Amino acid sequence: MSDFPLPILFIMAVFFTMWLVLRKYHKLEQRKRDLPDLNAFLYANKLTEPRCTACNAVDLKDEGLTHGKDERRIVSCAQCNTLLYRITPPAPEA
Ligand SMILES: [Zn+2]
Repeated sequence: MSDFPLPILFIMAVFFTMWLVLRKYHKLEQRKRDLPDLNAFLYANKLTEPRCTACNAVDLKDEGLTHGKDERRIVSCAQCNTLLYRITPPAPEA
């Protein structure tokens, strides 16, 4: 048996797992921020009303970008979870 201390191996495994999770989370966030807005989405897909580009469903759901009450909404398909477009609220008039 090697005398490599087991607790250190365990801590390294925990950190590696956390790094993997964070990296995956960050990639998903980046994909959400890169989504087109509604007009660009409709234009790019030659649609007159928003619908899923993957499965054609009109049943969509939206969620906040960073939290539930975030005014920047991310719209995805309620059927297959494909990310579709984002809704950015107009800048508040000062
Ligand atoms: Zn779909």
